[in-house]
Amino acid sequence: MQNPSPQGTGRIDLDGRRGFYSPRRETAGSNAWTFASPSRRRCRAVRAPARRKAPSEVAFLASARSQSDVRHAYAGSRIERAAHHRGDATALAAFAADERAGCYVIGGESIVLKKRGDGLDPLFTTAEARAFGTPAETVFLGLLDDAPRFGVGLAPAAIEPLKSREGVTASDLRTIAVQGLVAAEHVPPLAEAKAILGWHARHRFCPNCGAATRIVQGGWRRDCPVCKAEHFPRTDPVVIMLPIAGDRCVLGRSPRFPPTMWSCLAGFAEPGESIEEAVRREVKEEVGLDCARVKYFASQPWPFPSSLMIGCLTQALTETIVIDQSEIEAARWFDREEVKLMLARKHPDGLTAPPPIAIAHHIARAFAEKGCDVLD
Ligand SMILES: [Zn+2]
Repeated sequence: MQNPSPQGTGRIDLDGRRGFYSPRRETAGSNAWTFASPSRRRCRAVRAPARRKAPSEVAFLASARSQSDVRHAYAGSRIERAAHHRGDATALAAFAADERAGCYVIGGESIVLKKRGDGLDPLFTTAEARAFGTPAETVFLGLLDDAPRFGVGLAPAAIEPLKSREGVTASDLRTIAVQGLVAAEHVPPLAEAKAILGWHARHRFCPNCGAATRIVQGGWRRDCPVCKAEHFPRTDPVVIMLPIAGDRCVLGRSPRFPPTMWSCLAGFAEPGESIEEAVRREVKEEVGLDCARVKYFASQPWPFPSSLMIGCLTQALTETIVIDQSEIEAARWFDREEVKLMLARKHPDGLTAPPPIAIAHHIARAFAEKGCDVLD
């Protein structure tokens, strides 16, 4: 799994389940690492058994400062979800009739956008949204300063004709986020709407008995009328992590990345697995390194289609990289100065790190700024 995409936008590939995909094998080579500098001596101490944390421990760094410094896309919605209204049909009807109501209109990967002057606006009135056709689903997203917000799902086939309609266009969420096509405040609710509408599109039938399910709770549940099962929207946990040792870290490449891009490793947490276990397993599987301590950094909703990226840093205990050729194209050690240059897009070889919309950028930045102290 990777983050970011070939367009440099930060993308997780859920079909691939995880990691980078590669036909090529690469090892760390002969760059033996030492602990000459004071900071490296400090990091060596971190590796000593006496200071090592229990393997099961995730150290939740996430101080208020570090969390507030993270400015990746898709998180930070201003909308109050107002979940207490979801089961209130009368309230939902009143919200739909409210002249302040706003709708995000989505069909598959396409977000419908209104041309407004030189800019684009993803928010439509209820009447405007209805004019696009009968929605497959409508989801109550919540209230923004008491104004109702809805996600309106169209069949993907209904999007194409809209592109030729006067005053309307469509784009995908990654492009919208990377290129800043709409006001930033719209990106998190667009991510929310895309994720839950996508869930509805994939869960029209009961996995217990196969009967058609029906949407309830303002779009936040589907019920089976036959076996009475209740189905809730899924969010799939993905660990995305940076193995570090001393003043070096490991980044990898997917074949689908732009030629210059290197990013964090990532993969789905599996059933019966903790976050820290998933981090250690994924690093071992993808690059062959043993890791000990795992430190939580921050998380990012990733609605492609329904993931939550759980950002971590982890303490690498071994050095030799052996990549999983089915997952990644390449992986190698980078020192802090090199990572700084990649983040600043000033690397002498043109190598780059992910863009700021992606949590991978912020994980790499935290290491570049703090070195191994980021694990403390
Ligand atoms: Zn059923």
